[in-house]
Amino acid sequence: MKRRTFCAASAAALATAAFPLRLRAAAASDVAAVALDGRQLTLKSTDIDDLRATVRGELITAGEGGYDAARRLWNPAFDRHPALIVRCLGAADVRRAVSFSASHGLLTAVHAGGHSFAGHSGCDGGLVIDVSPMRAVEIDPLKREARVEAGALLGHLDREAQAFALATTAGVAADTGVAGLTLGGGLGRLGRRFGLACDNLLAAELITADGRWLPVSATDNPELLWGLRGGGGNFGVVTAFTFQLHEVGPQVYGGTVTYSFKDARRLLRSFADFLARAPDELYVDVDLDVDEHGEKVVELDVCYSGPLKDAERVTAPLRRLGKPQQEQLAMQPYVKIQGSAQTPGTAEEGIYLKGGFIDGLTPTFIDTLVGVAESMPSDSFEIGFQQAGGAIARVAPTGSAYWNRSASHDMHVLASWKVPGDGAERNRDWVRRAWAQLAPLTRGYYVNISSAEQHAETVHGAYGDNYPRLVALKKRYDPTNLFRLNANINPAA
Ligand SMILES: Cc1cc2nc3c(=O)[nH]c(=O)nc-3n(C[C@H](O)[C@H](O)[C@H](O)COP(=O)(O)OP(=O)(O)OC[C@H]3O[C@@H](n4cnc5c(N)ncnc54)[C@H](O)[C@@H]3O)c2cc1C
Repeated sequence: MKRRTFCAASAAALATAAFPLRLRAAAASDVAAVALDGRQLTLKSTDIDDLRATVRGELITAGEGGYDAARRLWNPAFDRHPALIVRCLGAADVRRAVSFSASHGLLTAVHAGGHSFAGHSGCDGGLVIDVSPMRAVEIDPLKREARVEAGALLGHLDREAQAFALATTAGVAADTGVAGLTLGGGLGRLGRRFGLACDNLLAAELITADGRWLPVSATDNPELLWGLRGGGGNFGVVTAFTFQLHEVGPQVYGGTVTYSFKDARRLLRSFADFLARAPDELYVDVDLDVDEHGEKVVELDVCYSGPLKDAERVTAPLRRLGKPQQEQLAMQPYVKIQGSAQTPGTAEEGIYLKGGFIDGLTPTFIDTLVGVAESMPSDSFEIGFQQAGGAIARVAPTGSAYWNRSASHDMHVLASWKVPGDGAERNRDWVRRAWAQLAPLTRGYYVNISSAEQHAETVHGAYGDNYPRLVALKKRYDPTNLFRLNANINPAA
């Protein structure tokens, strides 16, 4: 996932982070809302007042101060208007919000970093449980563990942990939420060394659909730990995560190498040969997209986190795949390469994507890919690959809810367009046509980098043979499917 496309800080995002939590509106009146089954219902003002009086954070309804900032999602393709937003300050607020939702049978969304490509952290007419104000990160350097509240962003975790030269696998954009990323899996620059973010999840604190607070770890409710490692937000609202940390940096070696797309076929074949022998300390994202001059390029985003004395030797072949247009590999702080100093942002444009796992950059795959990329319009499109393998593949597919362990890469085909604007349908249409050619070469898909219709049509492809076990867990902890805005595990299946 290319960082420069998405991390533009916006005034809107800053406003979201800064609006005062204690702003209260006048007494609420009755509010029209939407039930879990889509029915219209009315929430009585007295019930809303009762909830407002019990939460420590803020309850916001349409028209109240802060509503527009609080309902905004990272992806402006989704313009959701919830009936209620509870900006939670702690587990008690989450519990109250969950109980309110469950007792009224309300459509319910959970919002942490707000980066869901499918717009799943917002909803129309329902209740949003917004954990984004809960952002504490505590590092225990002796145990090498981090306790992270559910609203923290990756940049918060990276910065705190790197103060002790520690880190765990996190995604490549600092403003992504720890919660959604971890619950869906969590691919990132350290994944081939230390596994997915969810593989490093030691414990969690969970509020279930019936309002219970549960500790989750290898000894407390271990089946839930298995489910939270890749099963998404299906089993409740996590209020805090505990991660295993590892010694990393603080200096690593990396940056970008950019080649012209003209020689893409040959270049990608050489690249695939190189990757087959690359060590786990090396992670390389590949993006086929269009540069600022409108030219198609192949861009490699490189991070080598092994011994620095080996860095230039290990990465040298990446500079020799052809004649680079640009090469910006250098020793730099891990937090810099992770973009951790960036201000939380929202995407400037609406985004639509499709994604799936592949089993290697084989010659057949490269031929199809380059053919599709040749037809890619010369603006606002991208075909990208996040590298997996290494430690990720050393965990058995049944070892956690995250099933697709043997994939070499997660691929996405993405389009963006100005909002408001008329590019949405044209650009979505290109993604669908490109995907029709590429999908037959994929096996399963990643719940975190996919569209809502992929979840609806092919959810088994994400969970594989783990699906029946996940359904059993869902039946036990969320039999009414209160938490359904995700890659949904249907308790009635
Ligand atoms: C710019 C960008 C870069 C990305 N890069 C990567 C990457 O490098 N690696 C990678 O693996 N993924 C990446 N992703 C995908 C990312 O992992 C998902 O979008 C993820 O869902 C974001 O988590 P969030 O907390 O920000 O999202 P949200 O939109 O807040 O939540 C996403 C989902 O998780 C659920 N959820 C959120 N918080 C909780 C909670 N506390 N308890 C239970 N359920 C919860 C929500 O209900 C929703 O279904 C990227 C996404 C973007 C937009």
